Amino acid sequence: MSDIVIIGAGVIGLSAALRLQQAGHSVTIVAKDFPTPYESANKRALINYSSQWAGAHNRWILPTNPAEQREHGFSLTTYRHMEATMAKFPEAGITFMKGIEYFDVAPAVHGDLTEEQALGLGLEEFKRLGKQDFPDDKVTYGYEYKTWCLNPMIYCSFLLRQFHILGGKILSMELRDVNEAFLVKSLPGVQVVVNCSGIGFNDTAVFPTRGQTCLVSNPSAITYTRQYADGTWSFCIPRNFHGGTIIGGTKEPDNWDSEPSAETRARLLSNAAANYPTLVADGPLQPLGDIVGRRPTRRGGIRLEREEIPAGDIKGLQDDAARSIVHAYGLGGRGYELSWGVAEEVMELVKQRVSSRL
Ligand SMILES: Cc1cc2nc3c(=O)[nH]c(=O)nc-3n(C[C@H](O)[C@H](O)[C@H](O)COP(=O)(O)OP(=O)(O)OC[C@H]3O[C@@H](n4cnc5c(N)ncnc54)[C@H](O)[C@@H]3O)c2cc1C
Repeated sequence: MSDIVIIGAGVIGLSAALRLQQAGHSVTIVAKDFPTPYESANKRALINYSSQWAGAHNRWILPTNPAEQREHGFSLTTYRHMEATMAKFPEAGITFMKGIEYFDVAPAVHGDLTEEQALGLGLEEFKRLGKQDFPDDKVTYGYEYKTWCLNPMIYCSFLLRQFHILGGKILSMELRDVNEAFLVKSLPGVQVVVNCSGIGFNDTAVFPTRGQTCLVSNPSAITYTRQYADGTWSFCIPRNFHGGTIIGGTKEPDNWDSEPSAETRARLLSNAAANYPTLVADGPLQPLGDIVGRRPTRRGGIRLEREEIPAGDIKGLQDDAARSIVHAYGLGGRGYELSWGVAEEVMELVKQRVSSRL
């Protein structure tokens, strides 16, 4: 019998599920979409399954306020977890490498970061770059650090496999309402549901941030990012384990267009060739396919809290005990980067409600 149901098999649901299992809980994942090999995934049918379409790399967002400070803590927890996972399970799809960032306009805060300050923020192998390292003279600031990239569907499939091996149960279904998770006949007596649905249920603060990228077959040993003066981006994320390289990308709030634009693809590829010459040292970029995904973004930030449902509020339950929902959604463009910090927080929120069998 499961004591926890998790809605969602994206990176957040899978990470939270594993963390809860480690704490001794018996967990069932209920989800509409599950990790699917990139090559055979139906791009339209899975467009809202954000984890399927991520890069994915860790780009440090240096904190400037308490909310960012909390997220920075989550990203440091994730970084350490990725290091440990890569060492123990080389097949998990994670690679550590150099990350390089270029800025046409230096950030208002941390725009003059020293190596000592970077170390204090937990960044390893941080180094400021000089003019001679920049791709052109519009770049005014830049640095490098050690970071991780992963091949998303290799990684998510790995997490799902771990979950299954540890005795986790999986139910493939679409729910119409979050409370429906308490009413599934094959899962009687569940007291806590963890909502890792990406977008939540009827949350009006949630909106998609469209991302168009292009997968190329050219390899890269470094992950790069450039932020242009007009706020647009160029990035390159190696998908090791023979997965090619992601060339990105757009960040378009509230754009629901599911079709890739040929003009955007041409701009992304030409920017990448100009910014990262080592990518094209052995020949031009070789596109394999366009990707359009939706980052589950939320005004006000991630929803990470427990909601108590009073006894009698859920119609159709066999008993009249109160129930709890732990919400963990609205990760926007940072789901992978923050995943293990969020999973840790989910575990704490659950722990205050139900004790495990350990
Ligand atoms: C182009 C692109 C590039 C990105 N790059 C990065 C990156 O480099 N680094 C990074 O950290 N992040 C990146 N992201 C963001 C990242 O992909 C998301 O933040 C992350 O995948 C969110 O994970 P999630 O588990 O919350 O949601 P999702 O992956 O969307 O998973 C939601 C799960 O809930 C299930 N579900 C939803 N509704 C229901 C329902 N009603 N009934 C049953 N099941 C339901 C779905 O089937 C799915 O299993 C990128 C995203 C895009 C689109």
